[in-house]
Amino acid sequence: ADVIGAVAAIIPIGVSIPPMATPVVFNNTVLRDGHQSLAATRMTTAQMLPAAALLDRLGFGGLETWGGATIDACLRFLGENPFDRLRTLKQAAPRTPHIMLLRGQNIVQYTSFPDDVVEAFVHCTARAGCDVLRIFDALNDVRNLTTAIRATKAAGKHARGEICYTTSPVHTLESFVQLGREFQRLGCDSIGIKDMSGVLVPRIAAELVTRLKQVTGLPVVVHTHDTAGFAAATYLAAIDAGADAIETSIVPFANGTSQPDTLRMLALLEGHPRQPTYDRDILLTLRRYFTDVYRDLGKFTSTDNERVDADTLAYQVPGGMLSNFRTQLREQGMSDKFDAVMAEVPVVREALGWIPLVTPTSQIVGTQAMLNVKFGRWKNLSQAAIDIALGKYGRTPGPIDPEVLALAQAKSGQEPMAGRPADVLAPRMAKLRDELRVAGLPTDDEACVLHAMFPREFAALHAAQATPTAPAAPARPERPASPATEPRSGATNPLRKYALTLDGRRTEVTVEEVV
Ligand code: MN
Repeated sequence: ADVIGAVAAIIPIGVSIPPMATPVVFNNTVLRDGHQSLAATRMTTAQMLPAAALLDRLGFGGLETWGGATIDACLRFLGENPFDRLRTLKQAAPRTPHIMLLRGQNIVQYTSFPDDVVEAFVHCTARAGCDVLRIFDALNDVRNLTTAIRATKAAGKHARGEICYTTSPVHTLESFVQLGREFQRLGCDSIGIKDMSGVLVPRIAAELVTRLKQVTGLPVVVHTHDTAGFAAATYLAAIDAGADAIETSIVPFANGTSQPDTLRMLALLEGHPRQPTYDRDILLTLRRYFTDVYRDLGKFTSTDNERVDADTLAYQVPGGMLSNFRTQLREQGMSDKFDAVMAEVPVVREALGWIPLVTPTSQIVGTQAMLNVKFGRWKNLSQAAIDIALGKYGRTPGPIDPEVLALAQAKSGQEPMAGRPADVLAPRMAKLRDELRVAGLPTDDEACVLHAMFPREFAALHAAQATPTAPAAPARPERPASPATEPRSGATNPLRKYALTLDGRRTEVTVEEVV
């Protein structure tokens, strides 16, 4: 003990020794989490492109450009092929590693997929230009991350195992450190602390970073949201404790339910031994540019999300969810029930084994909270809540409330499962390919994985993209010939309807031939 004590005295653990003076690395989230958290994920590739080269010049540790809800939004709202977006952005910003957020066995959807689909998705992602995969499971069930981590390593890419940080009676510092240990055992290249709801306080952040680095020796990246207003303080504490990187965004897609602004964090680190250097003039140019984009997305932004509110500490609702949830309640005519639904969120969470709130569990808990308020507590149990209770999403951190479990069993007629959810799923790639072939759609791996997750949206996208010069779908009895033999000029049919996608919006136009 004396020898150890003497060594410790010679090598102080503090900011003064050289490794600690390494500048902290900033990753930038404006092209993914920034607009997911503040503008319902509606930024288009066209809106991103003018900024991509500038972002690339800043020399960030990484640019988060893909994953999370962006793939869904590309297909559902923007009429974009998400893989094309990744390739385009990679080409426009080739020097900086591109980062994506992957929901483990859920890929970027809400339910589990078979291993072969997860593997194919990871390989397509790697091939399209993604370098770093942030991989998490909403329940922190490591069995749901194993396939994605192995596939990432097999593709030669960087696997960052993400710890979904949350607070509850069953979550201890040691439980998170244990998860870090398992990430290391699985071959992860780094560990992320993913604080989606912005509830990680500075003191705990410092302790967690210190312990994770001590135990795993891996680089630690901290990712938080400024929802409750202490993200910058949390980052500072994490940096002092030796965090290797933090993630920031760019105003106006920063602060509030998003990540702290890059210039703000730079200013905060002025004179700090680990202060990094990022070009302020470029950052100011980007800020001006994104201000215009933010204005253009005004339909999807809300001052509620920009505002800092410590209520998140009780609700633990992640930034992206708050943004979508307000819209959802409005559509349900329940805007006046916002507070009641939010107050129900922790009740549902406890009943479902204190699951962290992050996609998909945030949506599942949020929807169940809404149903409880609308129909009475547990009067109307959603299918997803039943599945969580029965272990179909994985092992919950705490036990399921006995009343809810009994209801779930009674409604489904099923017993709870204890194994890894994906173990009961048969391989699907061959079947997906067959389905695409029958539908006359592309059958490559990208098509298969998109079809697996978003079948309707993928088919609609392909129809819109494949037929920009052909008549729109509705059948027209006056035409006798098969489409293939029709004259292209429209001579027999002066008024033709076309489907047109402009700036991500699909619209129909009627074109008249002028001779
Ligand atoms: Mn986030």
